[in-house]
Amino acid sequence: MGLSEIQDRIAKACAEAGRDTSEVQLIAVSKVQPLDRVEAVLEEGHRLFGENRVQEAAGKWPDFKARFGGVSVHLIGPLQTNKARQAFELFDAIHSVDRPKLARTIARIAQEEGHCPELFIQVNTGEEEQKAGVLPADADGFIAECREMDLPLRGLMCIPPVEETPSLHFSLLRKIAERNGLDGLSMGMSSDFEQAIALGATHVRVGSAIFGDRVKT
Ligand SMILES: *Cc1c(COP(=O)(O)O)cnc(C)c1O
Repeated sequence: MGLSEIQDRIAKACAEAGRDTSEVQLIAVSKVQPLDRVEAVLEEGHRLFGENRVQEAAGKWPDFKARFGGVSVHLIGPLQTNKARQAFELFDAIHSVDRPKLARTIARIAQEEGHCPELFIQVNTGEEEQKAGVLPADADGFIAECREMDLPLRGLMCIPPVEETPSLHFSLLRKIAERNGLDGLSMGMSSDFEQAIALGATHVRVGSAIFGDRVKT
């Protein structure tokens, strides 16, 4: 696999769903990948990447951004409030807004800095104890709360439970987004991005299918 094969598969999934490819952004998830693999994808011209840790992103992206123009990095993993300010410097979007305290911190920093990354609210569609995200039942309330803080909500994000059919979770996420007037849907990974596109994904987060298996650290 690799970047161009994934791009082809995205184009095919869009065609089958009657969607334009420009409606779906491919976030190449570069966490824990050797730098030479990331650099190869940058050399191929890709410019949108995802990282799940602030610290790790801080270690590689300032250099890459200095060398390659037009790079965007999205945070797709949990964010601690004490790292929020650093996240503003590194990321153009945060996909893991999942609690009022974090939303309030982001709102405060946005006021101070005069800008804010695009935000996705993470929904724990599988109601898994160990997983981040607001529960589906709390989503409408939390979305309203974020809107009252004037946060730039782009949409919703989910990570389906590994054991379950992902499309059920993608449908649920879409339903919550629709009833709240949000059109951004960050859903779909290496194993299920085509299903996510069929169900309306606007941002697919694909790691191992582009870069190869993650090297264990
Ligand atoms: C690692 C990760 C991905 C990418 O996973 P792959 O299976 O390698 O495509 C997507 N989303 C999140 C939130 C991740 O942490």
